[in-house]
Amino acid sequence: MKTNLYQKAIFLLSVAELEQLPPDQGYEVVFAGRSNVGKSSVLNQVTRNKNLARVSKTPGRTQCINFFGLDAHKRLVDLPGYGYAKVPVEMRKKWENTIADYLRSRTSLRGLVLVMDIRHPFTELDQQLLAFCQHYDLPVHIVLNKADKLTQRELTAAIKTADKALVNYADTVSFQGFSAKTGTGLRELCQLLDKWLQL
Ligand code: GDP
Repeated sequence: MKTNLYQKAIFLLSVAELEQLPPDQGYEVVFAGRSNVGKSSVLNQVTRNKNLARVSKTPGRTQCINFFGLDAHKRLVDLPGYGYAKVPVEMRKKWENTIADYLRSRTSLRGLVLVMDIRHPFTELDQQLLAFCQHYDLPVHIVLNKADKLTQRELTAAIKTADKALVNYADTVSFQGFSAKTGTGLRELCQLLDKWLQL
């Protein structure tokens, strides 16, 4: 596990328009999820850097695609959280088009980490994103976050639910339990990132 490299993550840039994307070279993994599922906290755990994902939350950047460099050829990417009801429809549409274009055209993109709240997984928008990724052959790894909030029995039930929800998806979709609070599941997630980023 090359976790040291994740700790070297530095903020590169915030992108609102596709024309501003960094050169499409090397390897990239993108993080997506509904607002408040703990996507920033997961990124903080992976990089061991509390300030990193905070960057994505600063005013003006919350609707941007934020890029973090690990080295000259590898990047982690943070998408804006979705499903936030107060975002005006027009803005949401523009966002969806920009993100969709990015996801389907980005050659360096190796996979998408889809963070969900383990207590409320597979929302309508999560399912839409999953179907979209499947359509474009983009591998997805689902991180069922906030597992610390469940009992062992609830955890087993949640794993079963995920198995069922994914029954019609290709084996390019995987999932795991996780807790950004305790660090449970971090090793498994980093191993997957290592694989995608060719570390
Ligand atoms: P984001 O909007 O998806 O980036 O979510 P944040 O990372 O800001 O987290 C939203 C809230 O959930 C915060 O209050 C976090 O402290 C909390 N949170 C995030 N991950 C976990 C977790 O694994 N366990 C628990 N108990 N709380 C979490």
